[in-house]
Parts: sequence; C-alpha cells; structure tokens
Amino acid sequence: MIQFKNVSKSYQNRLALNHISLTVESGTTTVLIGSSGCGKSTLLRAVTGLVNPDSGEIFLNEVRLTSQTLPELRSKIGYVIQEGGLFPHLTAEKNLQLMPKLLGWNMRKIRERINELAELTALPIETMQSYPSELSGGQRQRVSLMRALMLDPQILLLDEPLGALDPIIRRELQEDLREIFRRLKKTVLLVTHDLGEAGFFGDRIVLMKNGTLVQQGSLSDLVQRPADAFVTEFVNAQRSPLEELVR
Ligand code: ADP
Repeated sequence: MIQFKNVSKSYQNRLALNHISLTVESGTTTVLIGSSGCGKSTLLRAVTGLVNPDSGEIFLNEVRLTSQTLPELRSKIGYVIQEGGLFPHLTAEKNLQLMPKLLGWNMRKIRERINELAELTALPIETMQSYPSELSGGQRQRVSLMRALMLDPQILLLDEPLGALDPIIRRELQEDLREIFRRLKKTVLLVTHDLGEAGFFGDRIVLMKNGTLVQQGSLSDLVQRPADAFVTEFVNAQRSPLEELVR
C-alpha cells in the first residue's frame, strides 16, 4: 500500500504538489493523469526518494519514508520511466544483473530470475545479449520492466512507460502489462496523459491539476459524474480526433 498524507512540494515558490492525500491499496492499479506540468511525475518521484517533499508524509506498507528507511524501502519498489533508463553501454543482461549483483545474489539465481522474467515479458532469451540501441522501443520497455521486477518488489511505479511507442506496439504492451499487473498482484502507480490508457489500466484514475487532486474514480465516474467543469473539459479534449472526423 502507498499512502500520501498532505504531501506538498514547491520549486521556486511554485507549488508542484499542493497538500496531496491519496492511498493506493495493495494489489491495485492507480493511474495518475492530467495536463503536462500538473505534478504527476513529482508525486511518483517522491515515492522513490528522488524528490524530497517540503511537508507531509509518505508510507509504504505502513512504514514511513525517511532518509533512514529509504534504502530498505527502495528495494521494494520497481520504477520504469518513459525512455526505459537502461545503461546504453551494457547489454540487456548486464543491465538486469546490476542490482542483484550489488545485493550479492549468485549467478545461478540471477540467471534463473532473468529466464523467468524474459518468459513473463515475452522476450526471446537471445535479446538479453543485445545492447539497448539494438532493441526496438517495445523490447527496451520490456527489458526495463524486467529490471524493475528483478527483486520482486511489491510496488511498481511507471512514468509514461508506453509514451514513446507507436500505437500498435503500444497496444500490445498495454495488454501484456495489464496481464502482468494482475497476475503478480503488484501495487501499481502509473502515470499517463492518455485517458483511454488510464481507463484500460486503472482500478482507479486520479485526475490532477496544478498540483492538486481534482477527482478520483473510475473512467465512467470521470465521464458521467465529473467533479467540476475542468474534468469535463479534460475528458472532452481527449475524445479521439478520429471520432470527430468520421461523425
Ligand atoms: P507532470 O509530470 O504532470 O508533467 P511534473 O511533476 O514533472 O509534471 O512537474 C510539476 C511542476 O513542477 C512543473 O511546473 C515543473 O516545471 C515543476 N518541476 C518539476 N521538477 C522540477 C525541478 N527539478 N526543478 C524545478 N521545477 C520542477
């Protein structure tokens, strides 16, 4: 479970997060959505310790995140970013080995875990010998997901993980990702700016604006029971341009 209690963060007197309180229940997927600059990534990064809130508290499975608890908690979090964040000078396999080696796993255990995750993410095992630049965008994101899952974390954070992919690859990976979230029963917090994708993944969608939470609920809550005019405006702006053209 992830709990944000009254979390605020400002940059040069501009509030990126304004008293955010939010709970992501264990084993569920919550999607953060909103216009660019509304604070989605900042909220996600606060869970990884990459952003230090000015005030408020974050709890991961009831343990408060502090500089003392961060190293231990960090190993329970998998984090995937849009461009994957793989080291370009290392093969996929070497990227995956980094953390477990640091933790002293033996090579056999590491190899077994890589085989297991390659199967889970539907990647041929030969791709493990490729460098990130030799992989397609979709394959790179599958390797990034493998890396995030290496230590079998309870919590998965994904920041626009499919944002850089073309529509067909994106659709395929969406299906696979949702299946993986469900099968592994992870606690997932995912950022997207695509409402369709939010509806596809989210047990709950959280719409943000200027560092605040505007509405939490299902896609139909947002569409049929908007909390205010901004929600309707956001939903309408996301209606497919194709829908408009062929009407
Ligand atoms: P989103 O992910 O919704 O696009 P962000 O969380 O990245 O939004 O940013 C929220 C606000 O905080 C923006 O106004 C952004 O410019 C600002 N911000 C984020 N990170 C920094 C930083 N490291 N330094 C200064 N301003 C930042």
